[in-house]
Amino acid sequence: MRLVVIGGVAAGLSAAARARRVNPSLDIVVLERGTHVSWAACGLPFYVSGRVKALEDLILHSPEEFERERNLRVRTRTEVTALQPTRRQVVLAGGERLGYDRLVIATGARPQRAIPGADLPEAFTLHTLEDGRRLRDYLEQRKPQRAAVIGAGYIGLEVADALAARGLVVTVLEAGPDVLGRQDRELTRQVAAHLEQHGVELRLNTPAQDIAREVVDGARAQLVVLAAGLRPNVELAAEAGVELGRTGAIRVNERMETNLAGVYTAGDCAETLHLVTGAPVYLPLGTTANKMGRVAGANAAGARERFPGIVGTQIVEVCGLAIGLTGLSVAQARKEGFDPAAVRITAEDRSRYLGTRPITVELVADRRSGRLLGGTVTGWRGVAGRVNVIASALTSGMRLEQFEQLDLAYTPPLAPVWDPLLVAARQLRKAIG
Ligand code: FAD
Repeated sequence: MRLVVIGGVAAGLSAAARARRVNPSLDIVVLERGTHVSWAACGLPFYVSGRVKALEDLILHSPEEFERERNLRVRTRTEVTALQPTRRQVVLAGGERLGYDRLVIATGARPQRAIPGADLPEAFTLHTLEDGRRLRDYLEQRKPQRAAVIGAGYIGLEVADALAARGLVVTVLEAGPDVLGRQDRELTRQVAAHLEQHGVELRLNTPAQDIAREVVDGARAQLVVLAAGLRPNVELAAEAGVELGRTGAIRVNERMETNLAGVYTAGDCAETLHLVTGAPVYLPLGTTANKMGRVAGANAAGARERFPGIVGTQIVEVCGLAIGLTGLSVAQARKEGFDPAAVRITAEDRSRYLGTRPITVELVADRRSGRLLGGTVTGWRGVAGRVNVIASALTSGMRLEQFEQLDLAYTPPLAPVWDPLLVAARQLRKAIG
């Protein structure tokens, strides 16, 4: 019995490793077209800033380690060019055919590059190890002074942070009216003001249509990083009859099964369920890729596990400010048919006598049901923990009045006696009445 996994990063290797645990005698082959497997794309911005010294530090495990320690066959520089589900085989570049009993498609995503000028020598993306090397080499060798980043999603903001840390003057061009795709004007204002304090200009409602004309000439940038979103790598699957969802990514059930028998999928090529809206969503993140991969691998090896979905939790640090968000903003909740109410408070992040920094919390709840729908937390300390509390509440479908009674931790150096989450919850409950 053979399991073939296409893609050797977060989702693919999680699947392969989990399959091995579930079934010690399975023949498992991982096919990766790149030169490395198991590396941390999430660390690339920190390699660009110089905080991570060597690119090799981002490589977590070698193919040999997987072969030795997990008994997996890992083939790098091996591209799958076609799937033949009726014959249960994959076709490799060069013509070799490899049979499978179970298949996991974990082909990831790629940056959007559909903008004229994306091939200019001063235009970059940051998605692969090679992208990271090319960008840092350019920074070190050419020493550019001005940069533009296209896109104010979390990758765009992280890149802007990395370039600003290297002393460049950075302009971020965002096509829409908001940062982080959140549809939250107040959050956007806060982030824009913070970026400005650090010499990063954020231009909203500014779709870049021509890199040479607008960005290099207009914004006088000597270097441009495209971070305008991701497209799932679905072509291979779609050509073989694997169904795509409305999001454009591979449709999958909670067992990580596609519509084709024996074919599973996981990670950035797949959509998942949003537990707040109940609808499919495409939100490519490493956390989700690993979890989906584990379930896909387990089930492909004969187990029956499920991945119920996500609540859309993200966190990013930009010029020292941590921004955490989960669930829905007011505008997003309204679009989904809820009747949202929200409060946003700014509080001290620990006991005053130890010196505090502000922390801002926004909570969103549905007036009709009292159910919590989302939240954002921004500040310098304690942001991840607090956004994770909101995410946990969303996952369990918690109502505001239950949230307000949560037993949250207090000690003077770490948190105030009334945690900002509880203060926000109390105010929101009063506002809803
Ligand atoms: P990928 O990592 O894209 O891997 C897919 C692999 O499949 C690739 O190596 C590709 O070469 C291979 N492949 C594709 N097609 C074929 C084929 N036909 N044949 C053989 N091989 C093929 N997520 C977070 O949760 N938090 C973060 O802070 C965060 N920061 C990030 C920062 C950056 C700059 C980037 C780029 C991503 C970040 N992410 C973050 C996202 C996270 O890295 C991805 O969600 C995760 O890597 C997805 O894993 P994956 O295995 O689904 O896809």
